[in-house]
Amino acid sequence: MSAVNLLDFDTASLGRWFAEQGEKPFRARQVMRWVHRAGVANVEQMTDLSKDLRARLAQSAEIRAPGVLKDSTAPDGTRKWLLDVGAANGIETVFIPETNRGTLCISSQVGCALECAFCSTGRQGFNRNLSAAEIIGQLWHANRALGADLLNGKRVVTNVVMMGMGEPLANFDAVVTAMRVMLDDHAYGMSRRRVTLSTSGMVPWMDRLRDTLPVSLAVSLHAPNDALRDRLVPINRKWPLAELLAACRRYIEGAASAPDHADDEDEPVDELRQVKWQRHAAPRDFVTFEYVMLRDVNDRLDHARQLVDLIGDLPCKFNLIPFNPFPDAGFERSTQDAVLRFQAELIEAGFVTTVRKTRGQEIDGACGQLAGQVQDKTQRSARRADAESAA
Ligand code: SAH
Ligand code: SF4
Repeated sequence: MSAVNLLDFDTASLGRWFAEQGEKPFRARQVMRWVHRAGVANVEQMTDLSKDLRARLAQSAEIRAPGVLKDSTAPDGTRKWLLDVGAANGIETVFIPETNRGTLCISSQVGCALECAFCSTGRQGFNRNLSAAEIIGQLWHANRALGADLLNGKRVVTNVVMMGMGEPLANFDAVVTAMRVMLDDHAYGMSRRRVTLSTSGMVPWMDRLRDTLPVSLAVSLHAPNDALRDRLVPINRKWPLAELLAACRRYIEGAASAPDHADDEDEPVDELRQVKWQRHAAPRDFVTFEYVMLRDVNDRLDHARQLVDLIGDLPCKFNLIPFNPFPDAGFERSTQDAVLRFQAELIEAGFVTTVRKTRGQEIDGACGQLAGQVQDKTQRSARRADAESAA
């Protein structure tokens, strides 16, 4: 019998697995605490389990996160790991430290099939979905590497964003299992406000997420009309803006009534104060629209005005992302001036609008720069080369 990977389970499925082995299902809670809160890599370290149970577990289970191929730190403290997911494939995970929080940007797929025009991951092609263990394994690994100690209240990763390589909603089940573990008090105990899923707009799965595990939602908008968005985010041809915005509305309405079972007990005190005002409000009563600023493509004032008309009264915030270049991208970053004018226009119309700070560029760790090592199964590079030679 091959050993199961304990990182593949959430508490409920681990309980079922224990029951199948003739063990008490409540053992699952103990084991989840050891694996995720204590961060142990070895069943032998689970000292409150009987010797007998530990011996049996050591035979049937293991804790196996992706190994580290490369570990780089940028001058601003941003740290990126290239993690080995087998068959010459590598995925990237990025930790972004800030004054009073630490954000981990997690990958969900090896490459991405969606081919957004300005994205380095999309350029790589697609190989496969990550397993739940490979997804939560990124958080498990980062906690260990960064010296977190959840049992003693030392949290280093305070926020998770599913904004690394891949489209998380295209790998729904594994992503949801991993996010359940992030939220679970027996594991990472994060609040739903601090776990953000970013999607390019896979409409039916946005509804499923709302009904299954509503976390904070970010939507990659990037264009104020269908003609431009069809070009930049090709999935728009399948689910155009009207459908996407309707799904955003449904998400906010659904998510507002979902209970928040967050346990923030071990959050730093100053952070607790900051979020207190939200405590009695709906967990998230807005979506965040991401908008990559591409010079002379989507960054003009009339684009901002179209955006204002398009969004209407949908509760949202805007996050403008200066384009992060990569070789042969075919796009340029908007000028600072253009970004500020665009921001001012949205603010003027009443939208909270922030400009994302670009972090970790020296290690190619910024948004949209993650490339990893993808053995492309979609033959995208070949198709591109053909198209270019035909042009
Ligand atoms: N697939 C998901 C999440 C991963 S990408 C999605 O598309 O939403 C995270 C964010 O980075 C998305 O908003 C994406 O559009 C943006 N992005 C992609 N390439 C970028 C680039 N080169 N510069 C800046 N942002 C980029
Ligand atoms: Fe995939 Fe997101 Fe990149 Fe688009 S922006 S190609 S959906 S990872």
